[in-house]
Amino acid sequence: MHITGKLLIAGKAIQTLKTYKAVNPVTNQELKTEFSCADEKIIDQACKAAFNDFDHFRSLSFLKRAQFLDMIADHIESLGDVLTRQTSLETGLPEQRIKGETLRTINQLRLFANLVRQGDWKDIRLDPALPDRKPLPRPDLRQRRIPIGPVAVFGASNFPLAFSVAGGDTVSAFAAGCPVIVKAHPSHPGTSELIAHAIIKAIKDCQFPHGIFSLIGGIGNEIGVELVKNQYISAVGFTGSKKGGIALMKIASERQVPIPVFAEMGSINPVYIFEHALKNKVGDIAKSFIQSLCMSAGQLCTNPGLILVKSGDVCDQFLKCVKGEISEVLTSTMLNPFIHKAFEAKVHHLAKTPHVILLGSGKGSTQPNQCQAIVYKTDAKTFLNNPSLSEEVFGASALIVVYDNLDELHQITNNLDGQLTVTFHMDQQDIALVQSLLPVVERKAGRILVNGWPTGVEVCSAMVHGGPFPATSDSRMTSVGTAAIERFLRPVCYQNFPSSLLPTELQNDWVAKVNHRVNGLLVK
Ligand code: NAP
Repeated sequence: MHITGKLLIAGKAIQTLKTYKAVNPVTNQELKTEFSCADEKIIDQACKAAFNDFDHFRSLSFLKRAQFLDMIADHIESLGDVLTRQTSLETGLPEQRIKGETLRTINQLRLFANLVRQGDWKDIRLDPALPDRKPLPRPDLRQRRIPIGPVAVFGASNFPLAFSVAGGDTVSAFAAGCPVIVKAHPSHPGTSELIAHAIIKAIKDCQFPHGIFSLIGGIGNEIGVELVKNQYISAVGFTGSKKGGIALMKIASERQVPIPVFAEMGSINPVYIFEHALKNKVGDIAKSFIQSLCMSAGQLCTNPGLILVKSGDVCDQFLKCVKGEISEVLTSTMLNPFIHKAFEAKVHHLAKTPHVILLGSGKGSTQPNQCQAIVYKTDAKTFLNNPSLSEEVFGASALIVVYDNLDELHQITNNLDGQLTVTFHMDQQDIALVQSLLPVVERKAGRILVNGWPTGVEVCSAMVHGGPFPATSDSRMTSVGTAAIERFLRPVCYQNFPSSLLPTELQNDWVAKVNHRVNGLLVK
């Protein structure tokens, strides 16, 4: 498969005069291909085509849509090593990680295909007419959910496959019946183009309208701004920085017709390590902590960035083990020079903060864009008095807060910002303490784990990859797992419709094939 550098707008390849190049983070050298930059006119062309083909796309049968998702998966699978090589060149991620992420992307598409086939996500509700009800008769009421409209998806830097062109946002939007316009992340435009070709091939195979997918790209905020401002866009899926997410939320809310932005903006993922658990497995916990921290150079939104441990002998032992474990860690290449620079600046800030002490660091390197893993420690008072210590450091950096008493632990818990995850390392004897923290923790986090590490997010129906602001822009939603489809659906109620006018999904013979509700009760 040949990478052209062209924008792919509703089935047409478009070249522009303004171009940019990706950078290989391993060498800091620019890669050969020149990629076209979208402008306002091209963005409007993509969005208008998406809108024009929306009604057609959403009217297609679930089976056809499921087949489309399966076909995208097949076409991505057949890209094989070409995809792995390109992604590796543009991101510096190890081959094994890229292959794992490719598989995750493919499985995610197939999981959503199965979801679409089942039809339950339409959430069909029937409240049949009660003509004899006193004092007033009840009309016939039927509800289904319809897709929200064309969705703008911002590809993520740290998941070039699973959260980019055919990633979680795109697949859940397609599954719902929404056309998608993806803004490729400028770090990996070649990877984005390869995946876009797989989608376009599936569109052709299925004879779907071309407007349902476009890939735009370029550098500079104005592309994303124009996309979110565009009148034909109905919702936004974003994974990236808090600054970027908040900027897009503001633009979306100030439009003449405001639209929802589903932004996942990261988290420090607090990990509570209690004494009894630590006493029994101090070495294992220290080792698994460093492994989780350093996975993908720490460039994961579920990275364990804050560790809470009570002072005492076991804590001292833990700190010693962490220091030993991290000293063995080799550097790894970060995704791009900007992310590396931001990491170094945040680490420098930690180093300069009074009462924040360097506990240990990994081995160094003189190669470009290397992440040297690092762990700092501080006390509860310093942490509570310095809000900047609660900010995400994107990379393999963590802060261990050593508290002296439970009052301090409860204060820290109460002060936490919204998080994607909170983890407890606990033993049977810690249950009462965890129970006392849970009501607050449930208010703060989207996923709560016991005796594990937050990195490694299962794509399934029970997963929640979300959480209160600033972890995400809408705590009611998840961006991973089949429930992610909810973001791109809205309910419509049909009152007293004659059967011939009802959408197929609300007609009695179709309804009988799926789980639905009659008078509020579930019928299977
Ligand atoms: P980013 O800077 O937020 O960029 C993500 C996407 O949004 C890019 O396509 C970017 O393109 C666009 N964008 C950013 N700010 C924008 C704005 N104000 N208006 C319009 N479009 C905007 O994230 P990144 O490049 O992935 O990494 C930068 C930092 O984000 C990292 O250092 C890390 O702190 C954080 N991050 C967090 C997560 C997470 O999982 N939550 C993931 C990745 C990164 P342009 O820059 O070309 O506009």
